[in-house]
Amino acid sequence: SSSPASSGEAAFEPTRAARRHLVQPWPVAGEIGDEARGLIGEGDGVHVSDGEGNWLIDGPAGMWCVNVGHRRRELAEVLHDQAMALSYNSPWYTMNEPSARLAERIAAHAPGDLDHVFFTTGGSTAVESALRFMQFYNNVRGRPEKKVILSRGGAYHGSTFLSASLNGRPRDRDWMDGVDDLVVKLSCPDPFRRPAGMSVESFSDKLVAEFAETVERIAAERIGAFVGEPIMASGGVIVPPPDYLKRIAAICRDNDILFVSDEVVTAFGRLGEVFASQSVFGIEPDIITFAKGVTSGYFPLGGMVVSARLFDEIRRSNRSEAMYAHGLTYSSHPVGCAVALKNLDLLEGGILEHAREIAPYFQDRLKSLEELPLVGEVRGAGLMACVECVADRESRNPLTLDKEVGKRIDAHCHELGLLVRPLIHMCVMSPPLIITREQIDRMVAILHEGISRTMDDLRQEGLWNG
Ligand code: PLP
Repeated sequence: SSSPASSGEAAFEPTRAARRHLVQPWPVAGEIGDEARGLIGEGDGVHVSDGEGNWLIDGPAGMWCVNVGHRRRELAEVLHDQAMALSYNSPWYTMNEPSARLAERIAAHAPGDLDHVFFTTGGSTAVESALRFMQFYNNVRGRPEKKVILSRGGAYHGSTFLSASLNGRPRDRDWMDGVDDLVVKLSCPDPFRRPAGMSVESFSDKLVAEFAETVERIAAERIGAFVGEPIMASGGVIVPPPDYLKRIAAICRDNDILFVSDEVVTAFGRLGEVFASQSVFGIEPDIITFAKGVTSGYFPLGGMVVSARLFDEIRRSNRSEAMYAHGLTYSSHPVGCAVALKNLDLLEGGILEHAREIAPYFQDRLKSLEELPLVGEVRGAGLMACVECVADRESRNPLTLDKEVGKRIDAHCHELGLLVRPLIHMCVMSPPLIITREQIDRMVAILHEGISRTMDDLRQEGLWNG
């Protein structure tokens, strides 16, 4: 036998190798360059196995991305078949069929005249591409001063320099630089954290007024784009007040400001639709960015869908020599696009419908966790939700005593058979869209127990007396 054990070689230890050689995303200084994380072994349907071989419900579907579930043979076969047919071609001077097909299908799903698609390698590069497109668009139109980007507290748009400059969650920018002269941050549209005593309607008015005043103060002539997630995902599943997005979109339209709807999380079924901007929120953006669910995480792919009007304007600008000098080696990757086509077949073949049907049950069952005194609010839409813990329900104090409460809940839930995504004092849930009622029941029962055990721990340690 040639197995390492019998040949006398030491067995491979992933944890040891990772600590020595693997750098993970978002490390802290005290651990950087010397860190291993929980090992995931295999995936199957809504489950993944850990390093010890225990099977857990994949609460966050990887990173909001494994929408059709793990171990889909159809997708694995496409990966294989496309790689054998054509594994790569240069998009600089050639093209392939899967990307042209996928662009056509995505255009058919996108709202209004959004019918041109540029493919990237993920969400950050999609947002980056949209922002560089806005810069090109305004340069070509003779408006080089129209470049400021509006973003919001609580937002997450990526980890490349310009996309990361838009991020507004706590800790995102504490130790990292950004293009601050180009970005203006507005308030987070979080109804749970609205000023005490204010109605949601008045809160919405306040946010819209702030937007309008900002446009006035900076001047529309200097503002190129507003970038926003219809529902802020990793900021804690922030569902904005009803009509807020429509009213912001109207101000953008009136002031020639591009509305970039970042649907990296909300598209491809998370809210039951291929794109949610129009079908769920009633807005017709100028650009939609997407990634994650487009391939259900089986291949790194993202992109933007752009309004035909913008291309028309650029072509009519008498600047026919101007080049949009932007593109990636892996733009229009044939394997990624082939996987996305099959993934779309699966979504359209019943998974979108299932997601729409099961979403109310998912939200209802999770909402029942509000009976636990540590839980301040459970909110969400479609198959994305957040359980936000608070030290005190009256003051909505986000458990400042113990910022890692999400991690504690995650540890208990892991033992009980559920992977959760801890975010400071919040737990975010966004399972594969194929999740059944029974699996939702199990997920909620484990969360209930995991949060109860966390409450006991916090009481015992004298950190909380709820
Ligand atoms: N935009 C949003 C809304 C996201 O949630 C993310 C990632 O979580 C990104 C952009 C960045 O995507 P990626 O990590 O694929 O670069």
